[in-house]
Amino acid sequence: MEKAIDHILKNNRLKRTTTRIDILSLLLNSSHAISYNDISEELGEGFDKSTVYRTLNSFEDKGIIHAVNDGSGGVKYALTLQEGKAAHVHFKCDNCDQTYCLPDTEIPGVHTPKGFVVKKSSLLLSGICENCS
Ligand SMILES: [Zn+2]
Ligand SMILES: [Zn+2]
Repeated sequence: MEKAIDHILKNNRLKRTTTRIDILSLLLNSSHAISYNDISEELGEGFDKSTVYRTLNSFEDKGIIHAVNDGSGGVKYALTLQEGKAAHVHFKCDNCDQTYCLPDTEIPGVHTPKGFVVKKSSLLLSGICENCS
């Protein structure tokens, strides 16, 4: 765990700071995507909001994490694993309300009419997750 965090920080030439380490360990420990609220709840009292926002933004810029929009109104974040670099499917469980990355499930190619250039795609499936089924 410590090792994984060090590895990520080193690879991205980021210094070890408490906020970075805390956020990465939350993401590494979570099997599902987590929201800013989840993160702030876990960090508890006394953390600096703007530091958390800045950290999440810089992680996203560097491709360490990606934002997942699951239609719940807020953005959730998940670690971008090596195998998840390609556009992959996300899955929202109707029962536990968690949203999971399915890094091995790539988004199938979609044909668009002439003149429409796809730059980004996302696909959200919903149903029952493996923990709930
Ligand atoms: Zn579930
Ligand atoms: Zn994902």
